[in-house]
Amino acid sequence: TMQIFMPLNFLGFVYREIRGALANIENLFALLGKSSNIVDNENAKTIQVIEGEIRFSHVNFGYGPDRQILHDVSFTVPAGQKVAIVGPSGAGKSTVIKLLFRFYNPTSGEIYIDGQPVSDSTQASLRQAIGIVPQDTVLFNDSIFENIRYGNPTANDEQVNQAIEHAHLSAFINALPKGRETKVGERGLKLSGGEKQRVAIARTILKGAPILLFDEATSSLDSQSERAILSAFKEIAKGHTSLVIAHRLSTIVDADSIIVLQDGCVVEQGNHPTLLKNKGPYYQLWNTQQKVNTQDD
Ligand code: ATP
Repeated sequence: TMQIFMPLNFLGFVYREIRGALANIENLFALLGKSSNIVDNENAKTIQVIEGEIRFSHVNFGYGPDRQILHDVSFTVPAGQKVAIVGPSGAGKSTVIKLLFRFYNPTSGEIYIDGQPVSDSTQASLRQAIGIVPQDTVLFNDSIFENIRYGNPTANDEQVNQAIEHAHLSAFINALPKGRETKVGERGLKLSGGEKQRVAIARTILKGAPILLFDEATSSLDSQSERAILSAFKEIAKGHTSLVIAHRLSTIVDADSIIVLQDGCVVEQGNHPTLLKNKGPYYQLWNTQQKVNTQDD
């Protein structure tokens, strides 16, 4: 029997190692659907994130040479604060996040995290420092429990259970036919958009990164599901720096600051009451969405 068990244990080890490696790459695929072409500098440093301040300084960027997407974008996300990016479709919101992750380098300008230029940092350390709740989460043909542990393959059961609790998933999981052992993914249970985002939140809790990115789903969820996600995210955002891409302004009225992006330019920044008082682009976006909401009801 030894001969049989040894290789199986070894395979289990390899499987966990591979899963660990995948956990870091997942963000990248979830965001881009393809891998990055960026190569670390020869002298790239491990980024040390203590406070978690993010600063964009005069960032210009285009995916190709003939079309510039971001124009002189500057903003700061102070350590521990929640900042939202809003703006019309195509304004460049996701592009900002891709640059922060260094899937691309700015054409000019620089992005700093705790004063360290992102362009000088190793991609591995950068991705370790940032937890992301993507719009669409990749699930594997494994139990719901293992799908969550995937955020940190070395987490013990107790830690995974806590993450499930904080992500407001306990009631959902307990109601499943086989509880936490229920298989999900292609051949198993299908999760709704809202449940998937809560799985992503649980994974992010386990990852324990100092900086959090939340890419709100474009399609609206039912209001109960949306509330569960927002309160779960609020909980994990405590004590972290968080950057939220919001499609529905109603979800970010409590943000410390809101950046309004239009055609790749920062056109306004402030908190919700201030921006409403300004009666500028944010005020217009807000009124448009209020009208749409009333029509829906
Ligand atoms: P949405 O709210 O619809 O998600 P967004 O504000 O996030 O929009 P981005 O996805 O950042 O906007 O896109 C900004 C612009 O860059 C768009 O005009 C888009 O067509 C273009 N773009 C995005 N990704 C690429 C790419 N990989 N190659 C070329 N152009 C791109």
